[in-house]
Amino acid sequence: MIRTTCAYCGVGCGIRAEVTGREVKIAGDPDHPANAGKLCSKGTHLGDTVSLEGRLLHPEIGGRRVSWDRAIGEVAGRFADTIARHGPDSVAFYVSGQLLTEDYYVANKLMKGFIGSANIDTNSRLCMSSAVSGHVRAFGEDVVPATYDDLDTADLIVLVGSNTAWCHPVIYQRILAARAARGTKLVVIDPRRTETCEDADLHLALRPGSDVALMNGLLAHCRSAGVLDEGYLARHVSAPDDFWDGLSQGSDLWSTAAACDVPPADLLAFYELFAATPRTVTLFSQGINQSVRGTDQVNAIVNVHLATGRIGKPGAAPFSITGQPNAMGGREVGGLASMLAAHMDFAPENVARVGRFWAAPNMAAKPGLKAVDLFEAVRDGRIKALWIMATNPAVSMPDANLVREALATCPFVVVSDCIADTDTTRFAHVKLPAAGWGEKDGTVTNSDRLISRQRALFPLAGEARPDWLIVSEVAQAMGWADAFSYTHAADLFREHARLSAYENGGSRLFDIGDRAAISNAGYDAMEPFRWGGTPFADGRFPTPDGKARLVPVRQMALTPGPGRFPLTLNTGRYRDQWHTMTRTGLSAKLSQHLREPMVEVHPEDAAALGIADGDLADVITGQGASAYRVLLSEGQRRGELFTPIHWTDRQSTGGRTGLLPRAQVDPHSGQPGFKSTPARLEKLAPEWRGFLVMRDAPPPLTPLYATRVRVAGGWLVELAGSGDFATIVERALPEGQRLEIVDEARGGMRVAVVQDGRLRGALYLTRDGTLPSRDWLIAQLGADGQASSIELLAGRPAKPAPDRGPIVCVCFDVGMKTILDAVTGQGLTSVDQVGAALSAGTNCGSCRPAIKRLIGANQEAAHA
Ligand code: SF4
Repeated sequence: MIRTTCAYCGVGCGIRAEVTGREVKIAGDPDHPANAGKLCSKGTHLGDTVSLEGRLLHPEIGGRRVSWDRAIGEVAGRFADTIARHGPDSVAFYVSGQLLTEDYYVANKLMKGFIGSANIDTNSRLCMSSAVSGHVRAFGEDVVPATYDDLDTADLIVLVGSNTAWCHPVIYQRILAARAARGTKLVVIDPRRTETCEDADLHLALRPGSDVALMNGLLAHCRSAGVLDEGYLARHVSAPDDFWDGLSQGSDLWSTAAACDVPPADLLAFYELFAATPRTVTLFSQGINQSVRGTDQVNAIVNVHLATGRIGKPGAAPFSITGQPNAMGGREVGGLASMLAAHMDFAPENVARVGRFWAAPNMAAKPGLKAVDLFEAVRDGRIKALWIMATNPAVSMPDANLVREALATCPFVVVSDCIADTDTTRFAHVKLPAAGWGEKDGTVTNSDRLISRQRALFPLAGEARPDWLIVSEVAQAMGWADAFSYTHAADLFREHARLSAYENGGSRLFDIGDRAAISNAGYDAMEPFRWGGTPFADGRFPTPDGKARLVPVRQMALTPGPGRFPLTLNTGRYRDQWHTMTRTGLSAKLSQHLREPMVEVHPEDAAALGIADGDLADVITGQGASAYRVLLSEGQRRGELFTPIHWTDRQSTGGRTGLLPRAQVDPHSGQPGFKSTPARLEKLAPEWRGFLVMRDAPPPLTPLYATRVRVAGGWLVELAGSGDFATIVERALPEGQRLEIVDEARGGMRVAVVQDGRLRGALYLTRDGTLPSRDWLIAQLGADGQASSIELLAGRPAKPAPDRGPIVCVCFDVGMKTILDAVTGQGLTSVDQVGAALSAGTNCGSCRPAIKRLIGANQEAAHA
């Protein structure tokens, strides 16, 4: 049994892994403080994602396999040559919250201490850099002043801009457990009614981008209600002279309710609950951070906690929760272009200090380019050599088509990745095979400052190498062998720990110097530990005067989009997918939850556009257009759309959310706004639609719409197009015995291909008829016995089988219709009763909010 950590979100769950060959059984680690044995659906099914399918196994230059020596020499030579000709700022690294801390540390050291530029930024810029800026403005250092234990002791938890039930499911289950045990109140502040709202006492569906108005109104209310902590303010907090005068303008209840577009009574209820509940945790995530005013939004939340003294105490804190597994480790080493290292900025004394520590010949003296500016510099030719590590910016950056243009014109692009073919590796001149999750060895830091070991489960695949080793070897080849002669990940951890303590003297809370002498054996056996204790418990902050800062923030004007774009596009994650699906997309189980990229739209908005549930529609913004399946949702505010971030060119002709947002950023953090892009929706009217099931990977198909997912035993491709579909029929299907039926009258066609008595593929197309259920046909891909020709062409068994409906519980394969049948037939009224009857929701718990929603909808229907 090997103890390690989950590959995905910032909750940082501990895992126990039982390895057999290249297979692994995953269970939650009951001894890990982050999850105490629980895992969500993504963590539970990690074992489905560790095969070598799609892996990059050898170094390549220009698409041809080369030796590691040749690849390292090429990267080092081209970077050195570019620096010699154009200076250190002509090169850049774009790295990732998927890297381990040791990987991050060495990349940061090479760029900022030896190349002499700070042009290293990370995809964490897109995730939580506004929280970093907000923390530094308020506290003087990027310190998260909460832990998960605070969720157990709070009396009120406020979730702001966070679909916790889907994006941090184990935290959500912990919140629900606290509610059950102690009656903790829960308020959700989010424009959308997500599954996170299912258990909330109150949901405020505020206007997108009005969070500053809402929090300023809360602070004004706390002041008038007399719940400011005047003693704490006097001793531990400083504020500009005009702070309170400025706050009072426009922060009355009625003005705030109008600005936020929420009912005044609901707003007052929240304000009164907050004022009356000293033990309050305000947990926030991407809805706050991914905004062009993200830093102000963070400070609006922090201001309220500082002014009411709700910080540094059990159950009372603002709590930024990160999206990625090691975003926090990146923050600790300085992996953002705006930070230097070990929580130090670019003040001259810090540059000198870090230069001494590293014995660095070429210290960067100023911040580098942040992600959006970095790719703009690639596009306009200022950056001529770029190394991308463990991330997919051709999909994930805003206005991603411009990023693709930049990559296409960049003279030298290196990509280190464990996946061979991503939307980004297609632009690489050099591809370097990196270790995958199950092969990595190092540390990660989760959202509550807990540092855990990630341990290798398998030998390195093919010629893959750890990222820290690849970077070290390039640094050695560039002439800095002495400074990069690491032989074990522990060497890097020890150096990182020493730097955190170097000339610190208590000036920086991030100090893990007590681990600097850890042995290799001690590192291998290291238990999770948290740095920083209970930050600010003594009321002292890492600022020159030891006080925290109230930062004046004003609500920006929320102007409607231009006439061509009357709607507002919001973006986010699905419950069972992760980022660009390079791993979760390998799992048939995880692909069951939502099989296509959906655009969620309010039914009245859709009706006004002549669009029905299940139609296809283009989401169009000033940056581009992409096609989605329409999902009508009462949980959407009128005038707003929601799309998922996961789909790429590898899986779909549509669903390309990354290309839609503007490349506009927060002025302090440089974090792009992904949550409120002016958009419009246009119905697509394909002449035919259909689907393909295949045992082997289907060939690329490019009709108007084609999107593919893994299913048990093969693949499912949803299709729609216009004109003749003969090309699709010819291209899509494999060799074998063909069974075929043509519906001349209605222009439909059904073709099944059988080989050795087993179904290899089947295609169902219709112009105005119905299509058979996918699930029975998918089951035939893996079936031992062959269904009859008539059954295959009909797309259903001769003896009808019950339709379980879309899968809700992926752990136990329980569908929506099965749950509804049990709820109505057996009179079930609670999630636990459904669990007892069907097992649904009794493993990872990720589907419990969905089950609760089904029970509620059923009860509403019964009373109607
Ligand atoms: S909540 Fe889920 S995705 Fe996040 S770390 Fe835990 S198991 Fe992994």
